[in-house]
Amino acid sequence: MIIDESQETGCVTSPGLSSSMLMAAIDGELDAQIQAHLDACPSCAADVQQMRRFQRQLHVRLYRLFCPTTDLLVDYCQGLLDPYQRAQITHHIALCPHCAREVALMESLEPLPDHSAPRSMLSTMSRSRISR
Ligand SMILES: [Zn+2]
Ligand SMILES: [Zn+2]
Repeated sequence: MIIDESQETGCVTSPGLSSSMLMAAIDGELDAQIQAHLDACPSCAADVQQMRRFQRQLHVRLYRLFCPTTDLLVDYCQGLLDPYQRAQITHHIALCPHCAREVALMESLEPLPDHSAPRSMLSTMSRSRISR
């Protein structure tokens, strides 16, 4: 009995990529071996492209769904949150470039002595930035 080496995935290069290697490629963690395979194998390259596109759409949706409000980010920057909320936002910022940028911007501003002023100023700012 002859075992057909070519797999149903249409992989033209052997050994094929394992699913964990594909996942790494999708996450952009390409090592030389995976990159070489993708260069040689249009089938796997197409797989990675397609899954990347899908993942990006998923991420955009997740960002929107879980992003804290600007008010919450302002409180975070001013240290007004309780430790649990604070930890959640720290975790979110590590994953979300949008909020990370927002926080970096807030933290680069001069802190104002009046507590009510920066909040309205910042939300105005972020609104004008979004509309751009
Ligand atoms: Zn392949
Ligand atoms: Zn976010």
